[in-house]
Amino acid sequence: MSPASAVVAAVRVLAAVAARALSPSSCAGCDAPVADAAVFCSDCARTAVPYAERPPQGAVGSGAADGSLIAFAPFAGALADGIRRFKYGDRPDLARPFGRLLLCAARDAGLRAELVVPVPLHPRRLADRGYNQAALLAAHVADGLEASFAPRALCRVRSTAQQAQLPRDRRLENVAGAFRVRAPERVQRRSIALIDDVATTGATLAACRDALLGAGAASVTYLVLAAAESGADELRSSPPSARRT
Ligand SMILES: [Zn+2]
Repeated sequence: MSPASAVVAAVRVLAAVAARALSPSSCAGCDAPVADAAVFCSDCARTAVPYAERPPQGAVGSGAADGSLIAFAPFAGALADGIRRFKYGDRPDLARPFGRLLLCAARDAGLRAELVVPVPLHPRRLADRGYNQAALLAAHVADGLEASFAPRALCRVRSTAQQAQLPRDRRLENVAGAFRVRAPERVQRRSIALIDDVATTGATLAACRDALLGAGAASVTYLVLAAAESGADELRSSPPSARRT
């Protein structure tokens, strides 16, 4: 992104956030008015039940078995609607309520991290969207956990076809080796929370984790808003990767 278009994008994001901040709080799923601290209206909240409030047998989120994935709730209902609005509907203001949900999930799971790193967007997609939703979420998480925020720790070394448009078996090969650590000395021996909005097959997260561990990070925990159930299974069955021995 050129400096000029970066400035234009930043101003657009600030204007959108400011406009929303001045209006009364609204539901992240449907824009119905809500009380100040609420993320969802009561109808939407019924469809976005956190893992922390579900019976244990269904839980893949908070306190996931191998400790490498923490998710707030399944990708469904109002949470899925809200995430789509956040990513594709020019709604960077939704980073605030969603950042709160991520922080809840992180705290419930007892996550400790020294460094908070978002999954990066390719510069061209960043220029189109004007913001990286994962980076906006990561800023909130870093703040809440009193960890360092490293929005540029990872970069995409090549553009990849949009994961959402690919069949499941093509997603892994699509992103393998697509990420690089910019400054390895920043991640070496650090415990890292890797942030994204959704874990589907987990291919993108795994490619980022491989780059971070390859650069010397001590551990990588995925922290996402929503997990697609099948994707979460795949993440849990992957090696207990998070530790480097
Ligand atoms: Zn709603």
